[in-house]
Amino acid sequence: MWADPFGRPTINLLIMKKSKTIKDKRALIFTAHPDDHLLCAGTLMLLKEKGFKITEVVFTGGEQSVWFGSDNSVIDKEALKSERKKEISKASRIIGIDETIFLGEPDSEVTRSLNLIHRIMAIVREVRPSIIFTLHYNDYHPDHRAVATIVTEAVDRASWSVAPHLGESHRADMLLYTDGEYLCRADFLVDISKFEPKIEKAMDAYGSQMREKHRRLSRSIRAYRGFFKRSNVAEAFEIGERYPIDLELFSLLS
Ligand SMILES: [Zn+2]
Repeated sequence: MWADPFGRPTINLLIMKKSKTIKDKRALIFTAHPDDHLLCAGTLMLLKEKGFKITEVVFTGGEQSVWFGSDNSVIDKEALKSERKKEISKASRIIGIDETIFLGEPDSEVTRSLNLIHRIMAIVREVRPSIIFTLHYNDYHPDHRAVATIVTEAVDRASWSVAPHLGESHRADMLLYTDGEYLCRADFLVDISKFEPKIEKAMDAYGSQMREKHRRLSRSIRAYRGFFKRSNVAEAFEIGERYPIDLELFSLLS
């Protein structure tokens, strides 16, 4: 039994799957808000370079956020949602995300429902990814935690032979949780040094959200993770419990 740095036991046994040729070069990322994908942008760029097709599912339009440079007491929520859609579209092009699906859930009120679980299951079964990324279940924002919990349940259910009307069952090889404002357990680190200039460009796309203090935080986390990876900058991921380590995918990211 493994234990995390806080002594909590985990069931994430180091089961090394036999190496196989990855033929399904598809990655799926679930986020709560436009700009959350910045938490793993470098790793997505790496996967894109390796020939992966990347699909992102954004739960909300981020309409409850602030709008830097505007009078925040009179923000038009629909206008902010539309602005954030433009921003994510620009950033996604820089990162290499091929397709973005907006679920239209209310910002800051993401809640589990069977309908939502079914929508995620249908997407997983249609996209059929080998890697799934999502936010961390212990992050600061309640939407981030909700997305992590809902996605964890739905990707499990998508792998069972239930609800055939939602498509043929599919199990991803890896489920990964990203760092957030609260850092994750960091089961492994990905060197993203070569993508740093592009990550900065992707951050530039988020004019309504990104202030210097956010950039500093983001750079600091990448540098902190890089210190332990012995590289300039890195991104950290926690491996979903019940998901054994797939050696080939692991070496692709190492
Ligand atoms: Zn967010």
